[in-house]
Amino acid sequence: MSLSVWSVKYGERVVRKNDVFHDYAQYGLPDGDLDMDYNFWVVRDGERIILVDTGYDIPKKDWLGEISVTPTPDALEILEIDPADVSMVITSHYHYDHIGYLGLFPNARVVSARRERDYWFGKEAAGGLEGEFSTVDDLAPVHRAEEEGRLVLIDAETEVYPGIHVYPIGGHCPGELLTRIDTDNGGLILTVDAAHFYEQIEHEWPFFAFTDLEEMKAGLSFINRLAAETGATIVPGHDGRTRQRYPAAPGAAGRVATVLA
Ligand SMILES: [Zn+2]
Repeated sequence: MSLSVWSVKYGERVVRKNDVFHDYAQYGLPDGDLDMDYNFWVVRDGERIILVDTGYDIPKKDWLGEISVTPTPDALEILEIDPADVSMVITSHYHYDHIGYLGLFPNARVVSARRERDYWFGKEAAGGLEGEFSTVDDLAPVHRAEEEGRLVLIDAETEVYPGIHVYPIGGHCPGELLTRIDTDNGGLILTVDAAHFYEQIEHEWPFFAFTDLEEMKAGLSFINRLAAETGATIVPGHDGRTRQRYPAAPGAAGRVATVLA
């Protein structure tokens, strides 16, 4: 088996530690800037292409002052990926910046935690999406996948493809999914929004945005435990320093992608 994993950056912004780490003042440390990247991930097994998340259309509407770097459709073109050929999209959770482009992939099986689906569909049915980080438009491709029998709902650790395991851990969202990928160069844990930044992994610091703080703390411990048990390397979801720790992809792909494995 030889799975390759690339991180693809589509947007960015600069944030303050004080704003993104929950109750940061308690640590008595100085504030400072962090480069926050917006990514999705491409896993290839020969011709087979699996994505973790999809990015969203920043030029159409930036939610928090995100700056567009390479929109997903352009990034896929640079990577010579036809969206129709993507066979699976693993959704880490249903926030706008993770599933905004899910509709681009009409043939993909969509892998989500059941709790995530139930939470957002429930809110939507109750007219409760106002002020939330997901919209009716964001959820529409999930409904379509479900109607077409392409939605795969996850209740517990599952190997969704040979060498790719997902774990529902909650915290940031009720159905936050962790993805662990076995590669020839060792395992990777894509935390996505279960840990946005390296500090959160190192110190098990919660992020400011959560639906369940205790679940988020337990999730951070679980990530470290899973890494210790499996020897996998942890890759946080939004940390700009990832691009300094890993090489750029070869050729034109290097404009958008970093090689994680
Ligand atoms: Zn995010």
